[in-house]
Amino acid sequence: MNIILLGAPGAGKGTQAEKICEYCHIPQISTGNIIRAAMRDGTEAGKKAQEFVNAGKLVPDAVVIEMVNERLKQDDCKNGFILDGFPRTVPQAQALKEMGVEIDHVIDIEVPDETIMQRMTGRRVCGECGATYHLVYNPPKVENTCDKCGHELIIRKDDHPDTVKDRLQVYHEQTEPLKDFYKELNVLYMIEGDKPVEEVTKDTLNALGVKSALEG
Ligand code: ADP
Ligand code: AMP
Repeated sequence: MNIILLGAPGAGKGTQAEKICEYCHIPQISTGNIIRAAMRDGTEAGKKAQEFVNAGKLVPDAVVIEMVNERLKQDDCKNGFILDGFPRTVPQAQALKEMGVEIDHVIDIEVPDETIMQRMTGRRVCGECGATYHLVYNPPKVENTCDKCGHELIIRKDDHPDTVKDRLQVYHEQTEPLKDFYKELNVLYMIEGDKPVEEVTKDTLNALGVKSALEG
C-alpha cells in the first residue's frame, strides 16, 4: 500500500505516520526527517536545505525529489510506504508520477491554523530518530526522552511562532493545491485532525481499510 499524508505543518502527519507504520509494517518516509538528518550531518544536500528550512520556506523541488527518488529505491519500500511531508508542491507530485509510483491513498489531515499555532509550541522531537511528541497531548513516558530510542527530545528551530506563520502561508499557497490534484485521481480522503490522536488514528486506519485494535 502506497500512502501519502497531506496536511499543514503540525496537522499530525508524523504522529499518524508512526501509527500506520505499527499497523501496516511499511516505512515512514518523512522528508522533514531526511532533511534534518542531512543538515545535522552537513551533507551537500543538507547545506543547500538549511537556509530554506530555518526561514520556514520549502527546500527547492529538485533537492527533495532527488532525496525521495533515492529513498524509494531501497528494499524496505517494496511492499509500500508512507510519504509524510512529500509531495508539497504540484511539480513534486508530477515528479512522483514520472518516477512510476502509483499512489493508493492520500489522507488529508485537516486542522485549523489556530490549533496548529497552539500545537507547535508544545512539540518536541527526538534529535536522533525524529519521533514526535507533545508536552500535553502526546507526552513521552519518561520526561524529555524518546520512547523509541531513548535519546533526548529537542525543540525544532522552525517551530518558533513567527516561522510557523510563514510555514502555514507556504502551505496554503503551494501545498493545498495538491488536494485538487489527488481529488481528480480519486485517491483523496479527508480526515478531521482536530480531535485526540487516537480518534484521528482510528479514522485514518478506517480510510485505509485497515482493521486495528482501536476499532470498536
Ligand atoms: P506534522 O508531522 O504534520 O508536522 P506532528 O505529527 O509533528 O505534525 O504533530 C504536531 C504536534 O501536534 C506534535 O507535537 C504532536 O505530538 C501534536 N499532535 C499530533 N496530533 C495531535 C492531535 N490529534 N491532537 C493534539 N496534538 C496532536
Ligand atoms: P516537516 O518536518 O515535514 O515539517 O518539514 C520541515 C521543513 O523541511 C519544511 O518546512 C521544509 O523547509 C522542508 N521540507 C520537508 N519536506 C519538504 C518538501 N516535500 N518540499 C520542500 N521542502 C520540504
